[in-house]
Amino acid sequence: MLSLHVDRDRWWAHLRSVVDAHPGVVPVVKGNGYGLGIGCLAEVSGQLGADLVAVGTYAEVPHVEKSFAGDILVLSPWRPSETRATYDARLVHTVGRLSDLQELTAGGDRGASERPRVVLELLTSMRRHGFTPQGLRAAARHLEGVAVEGFALHLPISHGSHLSEMARLLDDLVASGIGTRRVFVSHLTHDELGTLRASYADFDFRPRIGTSLWLGDRGALRVRATVLDDHEVRRGDVFGYRGRTAPRRGHIVVVSGGTAHGIGLEAPSGGATIRDRAARVARGSLDAAGFVRSPFTVAGKQRLFAEPPHMQVSMLFLPEGTPVPPVGTEVDVQVRFTVSTFDRLVFS
Ligand SMILES: *Cc1c(COP(=O)(O)O)cnc(C)c1O
Repeated sequence: MLSLHVDRDRWWAHLRSVVDAHPGVVPVVKGNGYGLGIGCLAEVSGQLGADLVAVGTYAEVPHVEKSFAGDILVLSPWRPSETRATYDARLVHTVGRLSDLQELTAGGDRGASERPRVVLELLTSMRRHGFTPQGLRAAARHLEGVAVEGFALHLPISHGSHLSEMARLLDDLVASGIGTRRVFVSHLTHDELGTLRASYADFDFRPRIGTSLWLGDRGALRVRATVLDDHEVRRGDVFGYRGRTAPRRGHIVVVSGGTAHGIGLEAPSGGATIRDRAARVARGSLDAAGFVRSPFTVAGKQRLFAEPPHMQVSMLFLPEGTPVPPVGTEVDVQVRFTVSTFDRLVFS
């Protein structure tokens, strides 16, 4: 079993601190739910007092509807190919093209209470989705059929300041003549948001936060893999799908966690430099024999894969002398949470 252990008190304290520091935060609960699962994050969002959560796609909406009572913002822009009903009292669409806006409102004479709720996205330096400034001004003439909830800006995760780009974008929003002053933003720092709130007091900034909310305190999260089996091998013994031979005495240890969980060949933090590697090759060590470093830690060291990870388990090679963790115990694994799936969540 590949388990994600959550230190509940520590994790919760972190979540609270982010929510307190970012009034109006819109928790983002998309994809694999940052490793914790969309349903779990939706439920926690409600417990944190959020009135709105953001999902990535329409396919994710059903995963949130039952575990969260508030409104649901879909970050991917609405497209005419979307089959879900355009009006839903809890659903907020993102629109970034004039033709989509026209299609969305083409349904005919709905009552005023049944106008689809939308946020209008403006293209940023990301150049992913959204209206150009001219496009937004054109859109301003086609808003009768929708209820505009705000604007959306998706900024890059840049190293420099976002403030000059934000000033330009906010000018464009004002110039569009569209009345709303609510702006959903991402990837602004706490200080940048503070500066913007001070300089644009008439705007209501709503930060969308995923990673730094759910995964902002990595120490609250620990991933552990169950040791499933252990086989002593001598030099030359054959093992694995590929009929490899053991380069020396040791143990083949089988642990939970394979490609289906998101375990890849490369250890995520990659610490080894080319120089380290050259030194190891010179010493004739195991990775010189073609073994690749795994993300599994045994006896304080990241161990080598005996062969590439299987679908649900991995085979590790432990050279003779390494303490072998008993079957049924757990070992630590380093993962990238946004690409990982766990067999269970353990809150303690
Ligand atoms: C994913 C996403 C976010 C959240 O990003 P994090 O880096 O996880 O905080 C915010 N806004 C949009 C539009 C996104 O797609």
